[in-house]
Amino acid sequence: MADMYQSMNPRQDVLLRIAFNRGAVTNEAKSNGTDNFGINTFNDKVMRERLPKDAYKKLRDTISKGEKLDMSIANTVAHAMKEWAISKGVSHFTHWFQPQTGLTAEKHDAFLELDEGETIERFQGSKLVQGEPDASSFPSGGSRTTFEARGYTMWDPSSPAFIVDGPNGGILCIPSVFISYTGEALDKKTPLLRSMDALSKSALKVLRLLGNTTASRVVTTIGTEQEYFLIDKGFYFLRPDLQITGRTLQGAQPPKGQQLEDHYFGSIKERVLAFMQDAEGELYKLSVPAKTRHNEVAPHQFEIAPIFAEANVGADRNQLIMEVLKKVADRHGMALLLHEKPFAGINGSGKHNNWSMSDSEGNNLLDPGDTPEQNLQFLIFLVAVMRAVYRYSGLLRMSIASAGNDHRLGANEAPPAIISIFLGQRLNTVLDDIAEGRKTKKAVDYIIDLGLSNLPSILRDNTDRNRTSPFAFTGEKFEFRAIGSSASVSLANTVLSTAVAESIDILMNDIEKEIKSKAKLDDVILKVLKKYIIETKPVRFEGNNYSKEWEIEAEKRGLPNVKKSAYAIDFLIDKENIKLLLSKGIFKSKEEIINRYNIKMERYITTLEIEAESFINLVDTKIIPAAISYQIQLLESVRNLKEMSDDIPAQTIQAEIELLKAVSEKIVSLRKGCAEISETLHKAENIDGLSKKAKFIADVLTGQLETVRVPADELELIVPDALWPLPKYSEMLFIM
Ligand code: ADP
Ligand code: MG
Repeated sequence: MADMYQSMNPRQDVLLRIAFNRGAVTNEAKSNGTDNFGINTFNDKVMRERLPKDAYKKLRDTISKGEKLDMSIANTVAHAMKEWAISKGVSHFTHWFQPQTGLTAEKHDAFLELDEGETIERFQGSKLVQGEPDASSFPSGGSRTTFEARGYTMWDPSSPAFIVDGPNGGILCIPSVFISYTGEALDKKTPLLRSMDALSKSALKVLRLLGNTTASRVVTTIGTEQEYFLIDKGFYFLRPDLQITGRTLQGAQPPKGQQLEDHYFGSIKERVLAFMQDAEGELYKLSVPAKTRHNEVAPHQFEIAPIFAEANVGADRNQLIMEVLKKVADRHGMALLLHEKPFAGINGSGKHNNWSMSDSEGNNLLDPGDTPEQNLQFLIFLVAVMRAVYRYSGLLRMSIASAGNDHRLGANEAPPAIISIFLGQRLNTVLDDIAEGRKTKKAVDYIIDLGLSNLPSILRDNTDRNRTSPFAFTGEKFEFRAIGSSASVSLANTVLSTAVAESIDILMNDIEKEIKSKAKLDDVILKVLKKYIIETKPVRFEGNNYSKEWEIEAEKRGLPNVKKSAYAIDFLIDKENIKLLLSKGIFKSKEEIINRYNIKMERYITTLEIEAESFINLVDTKIIPAAISYQIQLLESVRNLKEMSDDIPAQTIQAEIELLKAVSEKIVSLRKGCAEISETLHKAENIDGLSKKAKFIADVLTGQLETVRVPADELELIVPDALWPLPKYSEMLFIM
């Protein structure tokens, strides 16, 4: 039976398999309890157990105070790490780092060494601290020619080493940064760490001003909510477009009523739950505190969120989450899709980046609190963030730019390309009152005036949510919602922290100048806050960000609204933005920034070129052949009918001829469309300069990919089901 179907159409085979064995559901989730939490991480507990007291203390200081590593302990730490890893069946180690591809990279080396013919397992401090992968194979944006490509990975002790299980023994992964021989950052992590340092320095000044003498550091904290789709792996393998580009380049919309069905297919949930539990179990082993899981808006779309952590650790964990989810989904016979828009017309996926700052004693600096002193501190940080987002909204837009994310931003499902801030009514009232020199009224339920000074007292705003805002204050943190689901969160957080650091400096400069006039500190601070509350007013928006009116209003306010990444990436080389990044030490030279710019443009171009080629291939090898098979069937039928025309009403024959015409016309327009795409690719090839080429592709090719697929989508709706080779949206998104 199954064989018969298989020979007819592989899609049907997948359906049958799912029907009969629920698609290889494994319930091998060994333990999704927290018993295993951290068992595969070289965490504080392991360090304390395995390191001599002195080495442990030095390493601890390096981690908690952000100090430089004392090289004298490197050998000791390496040895302890190796012994620990070997006790868990590990034979190899790798420096684990984040090149500018947005993925992670690793090159495995065995502990194995030969000593006079005898094998021994050794791991020296120098190997722990520094590695040397071949930098030439990673994107450099033209900074180095291949022969001088020397890059080093350096251990980043602030993120714990971990073991990734393998089929025959695990691999010890050492989180690292990747820098060039000349100290240029080649990865995404180094700039992030630098931005965290910059923010810490600036924010500490505020704490000191307000009398805090004990905090030694300010850390940036992030919690990333990760969205993804799951589909049966059988469907995935029948869609070359999904495999190659991460998104479907063709696909008719499913019937509307299908949305309802999703709710009562209980079995779907069970298969997904088994996957989620298994994945969470794996994440726990790596100390990733997966906390929240839930269904998302679209069918077969889900979300996972961990408990927040320091930004660099959080960024590493987000990479791990993406990797582990993919791996475990595969084990469960499913494909996990991280693309921002795998299915046209269906909600896409993003990544909500919850962001705050905390002092070294664990106090959240964006917590409004309930005493006036804390409020004052809170207000300084709040206004600094507002100024940062206002002043550098272009740079923030750049930080989330990618071909994939362009499908979401401003597409009435995700925050628009306009970066604005939502604060909620309560905070708005407080800020407006300060701006207008009013004392915040004792508003009945939400504002409590403690009557201690002329400072407003603020309650947390947890109720007033605006899901359409790209940058929303959600109680004690900001939520940057415009990052793409497949992106690394490093760049967005680098930009954010850097811009906030600068804004804090600017506010502090003003405050320090005013203090010289010997006014009261509270009054001075309020005066400075007032200035920046007024200045940043245009970036505050409480309404519906998806609306057309907001676009018009935002333009009046002078807020940038750059829809295509090929243009948004230009913000990276804007003079003021370069100045910011250099002055805060995020990059060492203008050249380095231009290299990054080139890498981003190149990726954008390549992504779209691959999509174009994949689409043509899909049309040529799958869609047109299916359409032609149907054409042949129709032709034969018409011919037969004509032979019997005495007995067959003319309308019947005519109806089939109409169908035949429709199919033929769609084939013709598909061929024509593909020829146009080819021509665009050809033209693009002859354009000099990455920037120009990217813009040409953005202006011409992206539109073509949208319109040329229309006849292909229409064909899917008329070609007989058994002849159609590609899994349909109605299958991929509803059957599991
Ligand atoms: P919400 O439902 O408002 O989005 P959640 O409590 O689900 O809030 O939190 C979402 C994410 O925000 C989680 O990853 C959480 O750990 C993170 N988060 C909470 N507080 C902070 C903070 N101070 N800094 C960074 N992230 C935070
Ligand atoms: Mg949230």
